[in-house]
Amino acid sequence: METEIINIERNKDGSLTDEDLENIKRAGDMIKAGGLVAFPTETVYGLGGNALDKESSKKIYAAKGRPSDNPLIVHISKWDDIGKIVGEIPEDAQKLADTFWPGPLTMILKKSEIVPKETTGGLETVAVRFPSDEVARALIDFSGGYVAAPSANLSGKPSPTEAKYVIEDMSGRICAIIDGGEDEIGLESTIVDVTVDPPIVLRPGFITCEMLSSVLGKEIETDRAIIDPKSGIKPKAPGMKYRHYAPKGELTIVEGNDKDVINTIGELLKTDKENGLKTGVMVCEENSKFYDADVVKVTGKRGDQKEAAHRLYSILRSFDDEGVERIYSESFDKEGFGAAIMNRLLKAAGHKIINCK
Ligand code: AMP
Ligand code: MG
Repeated sequence: METEIINIERNKDGSLTDEDLENIKRAGDMIKAGGLVAFPTETVYGLGGNALDKESSKKIYAAKGRPSDNPLIVHISKWDDIGKIVGEIPEDAQKLADTFWPGPLTMILKKSEIVPKETTGGLETVAVRFPSDEVARALIDFSGGYVAAPSANLSGKPSPTEAKYVIEDMSGRICAIIDGGEDEIGLESTIVDVTVDPPIVLRPGFITCEMLSSVLGKEIETDRAIIDPKSGIKPKAPGMKYRHYAPKGELTIVEGNDKDVINTIGELLKTDKENGLKTGVMVCEENSKFYDADVVKVTGKRGDQKEAAHRLYSILRSFDDEGVERIYSESFDKEGFGAAIMNRLLKAAGHKIINCK
């Protein structure tokens, strides 16, 4: 299959041109006809198909090489459209939607009959998101209102934050890729299960537990399986049990005070080099000059969580592009949005972490 690349041109003020809208409408028609289209969102690029058509969902799993028990997120472009796909809307869901939608929050709700089990990985619940990205919203609208979309990467690889990574993974596998530039946030949405009281976070993201707690007036926590992956507890979001976001090179996180981290990574780099391995580090701007690695990638200024999240996946992919075999990353503070960064980084590292303390 030849994959069409659709470039979003935009007007000077950032709004979509008439031609952009025509092109997005054409892409919407592809989805209506049962095809798949990758598109930008404020989190990461999504791989979209008609959520209400089980054949489209099957195609998504096939294109990604994704296990079929790992459910898809259904994207809507208007609050009113939610009624058709969910059984009931708890008060907490309404409050969260009022505050965070459109935006990077996915809610798990009881599904209605109309949502095929193929879309929900066999579950009776459905994950729903209302993205804020204008291109995403236009596409969902033109596609009939319900777009099932996981991240547009091959299963196991880092989620794509730019169209070039989608092209790398999905060329020849899907009808079209809409190139809307770099995604703003760069990490997947926060997933919160609102079928239970109090709701529980199944995947950390830009919308933090603190933000959810303050809107709902009760303590919102993260699924224990995510915080303590060695506990053996099964994650409530089926997708969180899979190895994810992983670069080809072996990634190790090194934690501790700056001096110890720099020394430890320095020693490891020396040994790797003696063994003829190509090395890489992922570190804050302030420390970057201290590392003698073949590839040095800067995550941003120390403590800038937004920048680190925004760069994380493209840095992981660039290590692959440069054939790096051993990668060392400094650790991040787990407060606020940092919980999501560390969750993805730990998964990418297969939980390999050296504590220098
Ligand atoms: P991705 O679309 O690649 O960001 O993956 C979607 C994530 O949402 C996966 O981790 C899924 O396991 C999770 N998810 C989707 N639907 C449900 C659901 N009904 N219950 C729990 N987790 C879900
Ligand atoms: Mg994904």
